[in-house]
Amino acid sequence: METKLLIIGGVAGGATAAARARRLNERATIVVFERGEYISFANCGLPYYIGGVITKRENLLVTTIKDFAARYNVDVRIFSEVTRIDREMKQVEVRNHHTGQVYLESYDKMILAPGAEPVRPPIPGIDLPNIFSLRNIPDTDRIADYVEGQKPESMVIVGAGFISLEMAENLVKKGCKVTIIEMLDQVMNVLDYEMAAIVQKHLEEKGVVCMVGTTVKAFAGKGSRIIVTTDKGGELEADMVLMTIGVRPENRLAKEAGLEIGQTGGVKVGASMRTSDPDIFAVGDAAEVKDIVTGLPVVIALAGPANKQGRIAADNAMGRSSIFKGAFGTSIAKVFDLSVASTGASEKRLIARGIPYLVSHIHPSSHATYYPGARVMTMKLIFSPGDGKILGAQIVGMAGVDKRIDVLATALKAGMTVYDLEELELAYAPPYSSAKDPVNIAGFAAANILKGDVEQIVWNQLGQVDPAAEVLLDLRNAPELRHDGRIAGAIHIPLPELRDRLGELDRNKRYVPFCVAGLRSYIGHRILVQNGFQSRSLAGGYRLYSQVKERVEEMKKEGSK
Ligand SMILES: Cc1cc2nc3c(=O)[nH]c(=O)nc-3n(C[C@H](O)[C@H](O)[C@H](O)COP(=O)(O)OP(=O)(O)OC[C@H]3O[C@@H](n4cnc5c(N)ncnc54)[C@H](O)[C@@H]3O)c2cc1C
Repeated sequence: METKLLIIGGVAGGATAAARARRLNERATIVVFERGEYISFANCGLPYYIGGVITKRENLLVTTIKDFAARYNVDVRIFSEVTRIDREMKQVEVRNHHTGQVYLESYDKMILAPGAEPVRPPIPGIDLPNIFSLRNIPDTDRIADYVEGQKPESMVIVGAGFISLEMAENLVKKGCKVTIIEMLDQVMNVLDYEMAAIVQKHLEEKGVVCMVGTTVKAFAGKGSRIIVTTDKGGELEADMVLMTIGVRPENRLAKEAGLEIGQTGGVKVGASMRTSDPDIFAVGDAAEVKDIVTGLPVVIALAGPANKQGRIAADNAMGRSSIFKGAFGTSIAKVFDLSVASTGASEKRLIARGIPYLVSHIHPSSHATYYPGARVMTMKLIFSPGDGKILGAQIVGMAGVDKRIDVLATALKAGMTVYDLEELELAYAPPYSSAKDPVNIAGFAAANILKGDVEQIVWNQLGQVDPAAEVLLDLRNAPELRHDGRIAGAIHIPLPELRDRLGELDRNKRYVPFCVAGLRSYIGHRILVQNGFQSRSLAGGYRLYSQVKERVEEMKKEGSK
């Protein structure tokens, strides 16, 4: 088939689409237009080059234009921006930024892979020279040159998504004092509040100042420095500012060509990645796809989906039939010593969509605790109250997070339930896991809730507890209380003494047993209910509570107003 395929954008989605199209069709004419100088570069590695972890700039270039063009027989045109699509004539207008030449190129099929641009709101002073964004290699060069040349001592990062936090880590490594300003009341908005609180605490322990719930109002130059004014009335002075408040799909071309744009701003596509024009496909950060769990339209600005969609669009453009079933938004980021991962829906997304759910929180170890190096992780599983179908998961920890999130992402894709997680036969030897892997334990904890073996109270319900009717029962041992602290108003009976001291409890009250992580409180709950007491165990135990206690106190105050 002598098809002529034009691809707009030559990085994650575009380069994958070009390679796949060639593998399927030796006779096609394939042209890739890339506005910038580079194709197929490693966006995801950019923060690590700035931080000096990746030492060689050329390692960011996954392939050279010469190698790519030779291997795939693709006509790669760099510095070439497609400025207009004429769907009627089936041609595009291209501007060569090097030569200034403007020309037309015809197509049979086209794949749009223009990505997304960093959001830069019209804040006064946003165009000051030392306010940076990070999307591509020229941005990286500008930041790296500034960091190496000017040796900035202080930096403000606006936004607290994964690129912001990766940059915070890498700039702290460069000796910068970093302040993050985030409009929302938490860092890492893909996580729910209590999981993000763990990440924020870790950032603060590493010396990063986190100003959450704060909006930047203006920037102003002061010599070589920048004054940042916030809605809290305060002013901060910094040597440089990085704007990483999110990205917006590059939809201008598609919009002007009359293609349908979705409510997210992404180009609307069907399962074959076809836009509203059957000969034009859109992929990656520019495309609006379906969130499988909520059914909502989403733009998933991640490299994995962009690559897969590029492949699927190429299949369809070359006459095959492939479909993209939607995305779960599985992601992971390194934030100093933590790995922070999520898959599927968050609790807040389910609330917004009105989808019923239950949650469980556990703190398993990455591998057998008797084998050196085991680290505790916090794992949140979100599941359907009816059939126990998995809806989402979030994990924060120092080891073993990546493999658990990938098992859970696979389980989610397979439509598994929490009962399936109980049964999963996962590899075990002490250096790697425990006989009951964290994923199995997540299944047990969730299944216990569904079967009624445990009733639980979640941290954000603590504010509604009526102290006259419900009593917090601390089952930890005395040294733990002294070391870790207490929950105000809780009575203390160590778990081993509970059976003998049931006589001290009031049968007219309900008890909220808790321990450090949740295991002893589950045992305590079983003792209480089998002895005729009312009980609901505190999900996630004192470990989770200690991360969110300020918020719990605020909620209590709001409740008492
Ligand atoms: C700093 C950083 C770190 C990241 N880290 C991760 C990570 O760890 N994990 C992860 O999953 N994702 C990560 N991402 C996101 C990931 O890189 C993107 O989701 C992915 O690259 C999107 O692929 P894409 O093909 O849609 O767009 P891109 O890869 O952005 O490519 C789009 C290309 O199209 C070109 N273009 C746009 N318009 C035109 C036009 N009119 N004519 C010609 N060319 C045009 C642009 O110049 C650009 O090079 C990161 C992104 C950044 C910026």
